[in-house]
Amino acid sequence: MNYVTNWLQRYKFNPKNTRKAENLSPKREVKTDSPTLCLLPIFACNFARKHVFMKIVRCKWFPPKGFTAIMLVWWLIVKPKVELTSRLINHEEIHSRQQKEMLVIFFLLWYGLEYLFRLAQYRNHQTAYRNISFEREAYANQFNLGYLNDRKFLAWTKYLRT
Ligand SMILES: [Zn+2]
Repeated sequence: MNYVTNWLQRYKFNPKNTRKAENLSPKREVKTDSPTLCLLPIFACNFARKHVFMKIVRCKWFPPKGFTAIMLVWWLIVKPKVELTSRLINHEEIHSRQQKEMLVIFFLLWYGLEYLFRLAQYRNHQTAYRNISFEREAYANQFNLGYLNDRKFLAWTKYLRT
């Protein structure tokens, strides 16, 4: 269990905290030696709803052109020169919560399928992307820094309406 405690360098996202988000993120490198233990934090996160676990990774070539940041469970992959604003962090943390509650795989499947559905509906990439339920929820609440503290389970489904 000690391993897991060390792994989960938790911090609470404090809206009053003006320090750069990178200072809030775990400094410790992620060590993974057991696939089962790697999965544990997914479930731990849902119980510790007010806490967020995030590892910020700067990458030149990913996400691809047109995107600045992408959240994958607890990894925030972000282009080198993009400023980590509280809005951006909050937006990505909302995606992180969505992914964890859908066990990641169902999030990815639904995201892809809904994108195709929206693309058929709007016939425009940008409009389709902005209207995916996950994005609707994230964009609608990205400025509300306390949003995740009392977000309901599967709250994104309220944004499904066509
Ligand atoms: Zn988004």
